[in-house]
Amino acid sequence: MEKDTNFNEWYNDIVEKAGLSDKRYPIKGMNVWTPYGWKIMRHVDTYIRKELDATGHDEVCFPLLIPETEFKKEKDHIKGFDSEVYWVTHAGLNELDVRLVVRPTSETAMYPMFSLWVRSHTDLPLKIYQIVNTFRYETKQTRSFIRVREIHFFESHTCHATEEDAQRQVEEDFEILGKIMEQLCIPYSLLVRTEWDKFPGAYYTVGLDTAMPNGRMLQIGSIHHYRTNFSIPYNITYEDADGEHKHAHQTTYGMSERLVGAIIGVHGDDKGLILPPPVAPFQAVIIPIISKGNAEPVLKEANKIRDVLEKAGIRVKLDDRDERPGSKFYDWEIRGVPLRLELGMKDIEKNVVTFVRRDSGEKGTISSEDIVPGVEMILEIIREGMFAKAWKQQKENVADIDSLKDLPERTLRFGWCGSEECGHRLEDENNLKLLGTPYIPEKFKGKCIVCGKPTEKVAYAARSM
Ligand code: ZN
Repeated sequence: MEKDTNFNEWYNDIVEKAGLSDKRYPIKGMNVWTPYGWKIMRHVDTYIRKELDATGHDEVCFPLLIPETEFKKEKDHIKGFDSEVYWVTHAGLNELDVRLVVRPTSETAMYPMFSLWVRSHTDLPLKIYQIVNTFRYETKQTRSFIRVREIHFFESHTCHATEEDAQRQVEEDFEILGKIMEQLCIPYSLLVRTEWDKFPGAYYTVGLDTAMPNGRMLQIGSIHHYRTNFSIPYNITYEDADGEHKHAHQTTYGMSERLVGAIIGVHGDDKGLILPPPVAPFQAVIIPIISKGNAEPVLKEANKIRDVLEKAGIRVKLDDRDERPGSKFYDWEIRGVPLRLELGMKDIEKNVVTFVRRDSGEKGTISSEDIVPGVEMILEIIREGMFAKAWKQQKENVADIDSLKDLPERTLRFGWCGSEECGHRLEDENNLKLLGTPYIPEKFKGKCIVCGKPTEKVAYAARSM
């Protein structure tokens, strides 16, 4: 398994060997979440819920099906999704008068209800989110977590009195994102998508991109400002303090199971997965080192340590299978358990536990009395180290270029005059995707890489995943 030389093959291999997903379900792109993969996803969802709840969002759950009549109210939106939605055309034996869309995202499910919920300025802001599955008829090659047809998805939707309030929500979303990514150890770029690539119906879209080891950028989510583009067709209005009726300004923020794909791609190595401790199903695994005649005292002590750690809230597994330690090490390395604890007679005599970090391979001992604070501290050091390393990779992946010849397999940064014509030429003639311009402005003075006009605008592009 060589990550650097053949990332795609490595990725598929890891997903299978670590037992994250089963692709054998008889619908292409609709995979089964196996227990280990689902546990990781649930931990990710826990952090999403925590940060959204802490910022005054309420969780809801909307129906899966959307009537065609509602789905088609916003004309750009429908243009963007028409070719990739699943339709329900029959109920029992009867053909439906109004076909139903299986949600690809929930604007058109939620906004007819928002128009009933939002009445007065005192109802605003309205901030809700849901974690549900969405469906897209993906025609490209599917890949676990990264390109699937049934997608585990988080989406928040907000309504505000003014454009400025909605803009403040976008800023809050970036703070929420930052806190979640600290736990997942995933770095990201904030790039304002081009006009032709923004979310259908949005005023603007900020794409959240993470660099993969093959130099490509994986979009892990997006944040959109809608202004009143949806509230007008969906009639979401409120009465302001002076009794005047106005349209609400809206935003959305979405991320998906691609976060799991990013964790695999950013952190894994040739031995397998490396999981950030906050989302690891098991944060530590205890391997008893048994030799002749000492099975009983070693297992007794191993059980004791397991119980102490478990009681302290650390997710721990005692691997007491009748296998050689070496093959156990191998199994847990593939599955990415952040910390391995080894316990043999020598350790017991010295009153210590030996530890090995999955991320760095660093080895040491923790005194048995301090096992809880010791393990907690090392897990935190691992998290910090993984996050710092990933940010370094993300930054090093960017290549500044001033010519389109011999493009490196990295994320490219260059001058762009901002014209659609140059943007399309750049994409079409070089097999690139223009990812957009930095949300946080970057100082730049140079020339448009396509037409040569002087520009202070900088843009990013990469081959897409
Ligand atoms: Zn140009």
